[in-house]
Amino acid sequence: MELNQRQEKILKIVKQHGPITGSKIAEQLSLTRATLRPDLAILTMSGYLDARPRVGYFYTGKESEEVMTSKIRNILVSEVQSVPILIKEDTSIYEAVVKMFLEDVGTLYAIDNDKALAGVISRKDLLRGTMGGNDIEKTPVSVIMTRKPNITICYPNDLLIYAANQLIEKQIDSLPVVEEQDGIDQVIGRITKTTITRVFVNLME
Ligand code: ADP
Repeated sequence: MELNQRQEKILKIVKQHGPITGSKIAEQLSLTRATLRPDLAILTMSGYLDARPRVGYFYTGKESEEVMTSKIRNILVSEVQSVPILIKEDTSIYEAVVKMFLEDVGTLYAIDNDKALAGVISRKDLLRGTMGGNDIEKTPVSVIMTRKPNITICYPNDLLIYAANQLIEKQIDSLPVVEEQDGIDQVIGRITKTTITRVFVNLME
């Protein structure tokens, strides 16, 4: 629920001085008690404030929940994305496995000669690639990767909650963050389940 300016002011006063009577709040705002009545009723009904007879209004602390929810809703992909690990699509499966270990990531992104996103390589893709009797030092990752147009991507200005929903819906661990530069889809970041977990922990702390 959006509060109007006066309601925000009342909330501030009660936070600082509560418990405080309606008349005292009115005094601080140079308004009459009657003028404030509808605002106090709204703040009380929506749970921001509570009122006790002979004591006055006090702050319930509900706002922090609301603030938290709107904070989460407004986080953009660009604010929390991490660095993508890119390999060329002709890299061998063997090299890709080494890269995955060295970089300590669960997903690699393949790019073509124009540096455009070409594919996604997950741990299971690499496992599959090593099991099919391939010569893993010769077989390129392009044989095993998930390729365009089947790649789920997100953009820097997308809401993080959208990206998180995509991870759940598509049952994948990460999304490449893509930005079009000179007509080419460049990978500029990644959003992973770890990103979401980190945001969650930061908000709680
Ligand atoms: P893992 O294979 O380690 O469980 P994922 O669940 O991320 O990791 O990958 C499962 C499958 O989904 C793999 O074949 C992978 O190529 C594919 N995949 C992963 N991320 C994406 C994405 N963003 N878009 C499309 N496919 C993806």
